[in-house]
Amino acid sequence: MTEEQAEALPKYTPNPLFSGLSDYLKDPKNFEDIQRKIQETIFTSCVHSTMSSYAECAKCTEKMLERRKLLVRLGFKNASQYLKWVEVHKEITRRMPLR
Ligand SMILES: [Zn+2]
Repeated sequence: MTEEQAEALPKYTPNPLFSGLSDYLKDPKNFEDIQRKIQETIFTSCVHSTMSSYAECAKCTEKMLERRKLLVRLGFKNASQYLKWVEVHKEITRRMPLR
């Protein structure tokens, strides 16, 4: 096997998404709490019918930046990592309900 072929092999890690995340983010107990904090930065009183009017809205832009900063502060690398994190935690909650 060449080095290139070895590189192309899927690497085994128990949960690649969670590697590098803090224990706080990994703990399913904190999921709802973190979700709530993030949701609070999403909702505005605005209703935008198009993406361009949303993108031009100062209020929504500010919220978006606020959310991005919050994600970084919580320990996420980027928004797509956050979205995958949500999926994983939903799956965990589905399989192992806490109550
Ligand atoms: Zn807006």
